[in-house]
Amino acid sequence: MVEFGLVGKGISHSFSADFFNDKYRRQGLDAVYLNFDLEDISLLPALIGSRPDLKGFNVTSPYKREVIPFLDYLSPAAARLQAVNVVKVVRNSSDLGSLKPGHKDYFLMGYNTDSPGFGLTLPPVLEAMCSSPDLPGVSALILGTGGAASAVGLALSEAGVPYIFVSRTPSVKMAGESVCCYTDLSELLDSHRLVVNASPVGMFPNVESAPDIPYHLLSSRHVCYDLIYNPPETLFLQRAKAQGAKTVNGMEMLLNQAELAWDILSI
Ligand code: NAP
Repeated sequence: MVEFGLVGKGISHSFSADFFNDKYRRQGLDAVYLNFDLEDISLLPALIGSRPDLKGFNVTSPYKREVIPFLDYLSPAAARLQAVNVVKVVRNSSDLGSLKPGHKDYFLMGYNTDSPGFGLTLPPVLEAMCSSPDLPGVSALILGTGGAASAVGLALSEAGVPYIFVSRTPSVKMAGESVCCYTDLSELLDSHRLVVNASPVGMFPNVESAPDIPYHLLSSRHVCYDLIYNPPETLFLQRAKAQGAKTVNGMEMLLNQAELAWDILSI
């Protein structure tokens, strides 16, 4: 039986296994999707070596960047973002074509589907934000500077939306990008109407926490978008909604990135 899986840490509650196993069942495929909870990413080669039927895997926190040194190829988006969430394992020498895997008997190809997964959700969000001629153009604030934040930044730049990253330690982050700190937000929220939480703050089980932003400055002119999908309505979204802002959670992005991963990994 062909195997796929999810590589991460603390992933027992992940969405991916149910999503992919359900697809295999419905399509009558002889495949299974397993969780590979690794204490350290250095265990990856042993995992791949011990599972000859493993054809590919998704990568989640905290290994989206750490997995890169183990890969033989990066898609242009993954290389630009330095973040990978899908890895295809090529084992069959005829599949390898002209690619030379060196001393290994497999070749690992890394992709990023988070960025297009987010990008596909943007058109209705931006359309709604531009519906009134009285409103200024859309600029965004991205909370966090990790792999998900970079993926959001790439999608926003492709959509022509200017953005600023917001970091707890802006001085050491994101060379070549605009980064501010949370204390700057009082001045920026008026002109930046799209606020994307790309930090893990508020994610299950820490549902009582919310990003440290001045919520009283949010209004019906704002859209607050949380990449988190568990819980479906984070404290960030609840507080934004209480101010009249429109809210979007991470479920549609999650489904999009999984469908795109399916296309890459499909047997
Ligand atoms: P990450 O690398 O763990 O964290 C992202 C950034 O968040 C960090 O670089 C940090 O930026 C900030 N941060 C971390 N802990 C914080 C804290 N306690 N307080 C304030 N800021 C904090 O996570 P990630 O992999 O980029 O993912 C971020 C979120 O997106 C997660 O909740 C993940 O589940 C979600 N996600 C959703 C989807 C989807 O399909 N819906 C896809 C990918 C990711 P600074 O140090 O610069 O402040």
